[in-house]
Amino acid sequence: MIYDYRCPDCKFEMEELVKKFDDPVCCKECGHPSMTRKFPAPAIKSLNSKEKISESLRKRSLADAKRRSEEYGENARRQVNTALGRK
Ligand SMILES: [Zn+2]
Repeated sequence: MIYDYRCPDCKFEMEELVKKFDDPVCCKECGHPSMTRKFPAPAIKSLNSKEKISESLRKRSLADAKRRSEEYGENARRQVNTALGRK
């Protein structure tokens, strides 16, 4: 994983590839033994609980619609096969 680090001493900033999240990173400028990791901005903005609920409901109904359309697609394919079989 690549994280952004910032030196608490000299304010030097750099990206560093670390194997483990907890790996300490030395500052390449001043040699500070543990640079501060800068957390990436959260992708999802915090919503209030009402918005969260409506969002999850929206996602669920989308998933349901998708599944239903797939089922209809399967039924339609069967009907086509049946029709072909009758020919
Ligand atoms: Zn430094």
